[in-house]
Amino acid sequence: MTFARCSFFAICFTILLACVAPRIVPGSHVAPRIVAAQTAAPAPAAANSRNAYSLSPGKLAKAIAISRIRNIMYFVGGLWGIVVLWLLLVTRALAHLEVWAQGISARRWVQGLVFFAAFLVIATLASLPLDWFSQHVEKSYEISVQGWGGWIADQGKALGLSLLFGAPILLFFNWIVGRWPRRYWFGIWVATLPLLVLSTFVLPLVAPVFYKFEPLEKNHAALVAKLETVVARTGIDIPPNRMYLMKASEKYTGINAYVAGLGATKRYVMWDTATDRLPDDEILFVFGHESGHYVLHHIPKLIAGSAIGLFFVYWACAGFAAWLARRFGSRWGLGQVDGNSLASRSGFLALLFAISVAGFVLEPASNTVSRYFEHQADIYGQEAIHGIVPDPRKTAVSEFNHLGESWLEDPNPSPFIEFWEYDHPSIKTRANFALHYDPWAIGGHGEFFDK
Ligand SMILES: [Zn+2]
Repeated sequence: MTFARCSFFAICFTILLACVAPRIVPGSHVAPRIVAAQTAAPAPAAANSRNAYSLSPGKLAKAIAISRIRNIMYFVGGLWGIVVLWLLLVTRALAHLEVWAQGISARRWVQGLVFFAAFLVIATLASLPLDWFSQHVEKSYEISVQGWGGWIADQGKALGLSLLFGAPILLFFNWIVGRWPRRYWFGIWVATLPLLVLSTFVLPLVAPVFYKFEPLEKNHAALVAKLETVVARTGIDIPPNRMYLMKASEKYTGINAYVAGLGATKRYVMWDTATDRLPDDEILFVFGHESGHYVLHHIPKLIAGSAIGLFFVYWACAGFAAWLARRFGSRWGLGQVDGNSLASRSGFLALLFAISVAGFVLEPASNTVSRYFEHQADIYGQEAIHGIVPDPRKTAVSEFNHLGESWLEDPNPSPFIEFWEYDHPSIKTRANFALHYDPWAIGGHGEFFDK
């Protein structure tokens, strides 16, 4: 669910990477989102006995401790990306980089590719210490079980993808600014639309760069047969050949599942940590939740919502960037193309700076939409297993407890943290809702099913 966010590098590149590398940095919430059934957080065990989510005292202390670190890293990481870009501008490092790239080749597009590739490398290196620290924390709490060699290899692969997709996209957007100096933001918006669709489509095809996948049926035929009972109730079209098992256990101990892709690449993916540790009934609930994302068309809705949101974001950022260029252009040594500094390469990164700021500030907005969709999927999931498992409430509450415990999710997040940072409702919220959701008790029916 990461579409609306337009953070550090290029919009689309970020979208792609954020989706492509689910849980590379597990606690930092930089990753999944599209990728549905994750995150979320728990509630204090002893403190409030009415909470449907609880942890053993030992796990509770750990969850509180790691959550503090994750929350700090979330804001530090978000702001750090903006600060790095700002530092590159004020120190004229980007202006020097631009001059250097011009000496590389006489071809302008080669200069541009070299410039943006170099920028992406610098940006990646700048965030590496924070990423390393987050990984160190996740490893010390045994959420991550990945060796450092594998982790470094993943960082290299992520950088490779960002160079492959990000540098050409930045070059293309930069070209649009020069081509239509006045209304370029509209041109960039138009160019973003197919990229949103394309990146969603391509994502599942890129995911195997980071994880091994196999058909779920291969080693879990009995489970697939049970899932088919939920498929029969929902009436949706997820044939077994669209169900995959992801070998996440090589890297994580946390439980997860997600839906991704569009059209021919649309699929349901279950992490092997979930199949190994969750009882079948709870897997059915997870599957029901993910089916909800399918049935309620959350992926196309997110693309559409992002398109609408980005229209205004680009428009506002164009104004902000124009002001930055007027006010600081000469001090930052921004280049000029036909008297337009934003069309230069260093100037274009001033525009990217504006977009990064907007992305950070608008994070709560996209997360609020995401939490709404997740809540809908929770309701759908619970209704989908009605009549299939003995007690949907009990199953859902138990699954949320397993989920929260597996990631050591925040037992009692502050409302501010939940509002700003959480792309799923907290586990406390989810479990408490599940515990009390029983429309059949009074002879009624669910929101999404007739019985
Ligand atoms: Zn979900």
